[in-house]
Amino acid sequence: MKLQFLGACQTVTGSKTLVSYQNKRILIDAGMFQGQKELRLQNWQPFPIDPASIDAILLTHAHIDHSGFLPALMKQGFHGPVYCTSGTKALCDVLLPDAGFLQEEDARYANKKGFSKHSPALPLFTEKEARRSLSLFEPLGSETQLSLNRDWRAEFFPSGHILGASSIRLETPETSVCFSGDLGRYDDLMMYPPISPPHSDYVVMESTYGDEQHLKVNADEILAKIITDTVQRGGIVLIPSFAVGRAQLLLHIITKLKESHRIPQVPIFLNSPMAIKATEIYSHFHRQHKLSKEDCERIDRNTTYVKTMEESIELNNRTYPSVIVSASGMASGGRVLHHLKTMAKNYRNSIVFSGFQAPGTRGDAMVNGATQIKMHGQYIPVKAEVHQLTSLSAHADQAGLLNWLSKIQPSPKKVFINHGEPLASDILKTQIEERFSIPVECVQSGQKVVL
Ligand SMILES: [Zn+2]
Repeated sequence: MKLQFLGACQTVTGSKTLVSYQNKRILIDAGMFQGQKELRLQNWQPFPIDPASIDAILLTHAHIDHSGFLPALMKQGFHGPVYCTSGTKALCDVLLPDAGFLQEEDARYANKKGFSKHSPALPLFTEKEARRSLSLFEPLGSETQLSLNRDWRAEFFPSGHILGASSIRLETPETSVCFSGDLGRYDDLMMYPPISPPHSDYVVMESTYGDEQHLKVNADEILAKIITDTVQRGGIVLIPSFAVGRAQLLLHIITKLKESHRIPQVPIFLNSPMAIKATEIYSHFHRQHKLSKEDCERIDRNTTYVKTMEESIELNNRTYPSVIVSASGMASGGRVLHHLKTMAKNYRNSIVFSGFQAPGTRGDAMVNGATQIKMHGQYIPVKAEVHQLTSLSAHADQAGLLNWLSKIQPSPKKVFINHGEPLASDILKTQIEERFSIPVECVQSGQKVVL
């Protein structure tokens, strides 16, 4: 078996690993590079192999940095099946067309401003192309195993990260290798803990938080205090949130606080078409996470879903206390920008960022104390209270990553580390070598290995 690492090497986006065995080629994940410009430009590099020669793609989960390059591969000739869990397929149905829409928006904006080197600027793929790529999906249903050919098998294990997320173990008569995908936390409030696969000769694992221990803080208590204090001074609590997973968890926490009267009885709004669809999907797949059907129904009862643009604009004119959850999570786009524009300048309001803020984003500037932020060409003063909840991460920390690996027994012959910034990967490598005496390599982009 041969591996070639084609993305998420020394970085956390663009996950793609090519696996070749006998005369078959499969790709584990088809992630888009996201974030800084030099990363995004990698999406435009010629693909190192002919996409038409890939027999199948297996997805660990639906996040765009693991699935979002799929429509581009289809455009370049890939026409094989895409295998994943049914939860991943349901989320891709929403996420991929949205990614296409955003690509088209970016191209339109670049053309309007004339800052693209290419004339006209083109989207990597369109919404329509993304929808077409959904026809390639063959979700597994209740199965967890898949025969890729007579000798080659794949098996999916829940990885606890978001709905449908899995680690994928490949096995041939000669060897076995497990791809961790993104691993969730053992103490996650919404997802069940990750399940380690049985012995695998080789492991390819993520290292997003390979250098960190998550702090143990109680999100319920922090949110209860922020909401109560803000409502008492007549303000609105605005929570920029990631649409998939995070928004649902926040609504679950806020609903519980409201029902147990730990916060005042104020209206709760969810203003993000994507988050509304994701909430429906989480509710449909309630057996696959810790929120019961009743929990999902409680969220529905306590939340007003803001669907149209008119309703969204109307929300800005409200003056009485409320809680608004809206995307995007780092205030880099989406409807939350319109709310920030009107709400950031009022000292009565609170803005609560609900997770990691990438450098360079408005969210990052605000949690670091920026007194003004630029939006739609205007500088908006920030007078509202700004908070950051860091305890809701959907990623395992260093202890979680080591725990997951320790349960793969007998220990693998070698571990390859990807999906992390260089420092996080290096620290995780040292920890694994010292604790488990397993040889470890942090992989480089384009690197090939023979197993
Ligand atoms: Zn992910």
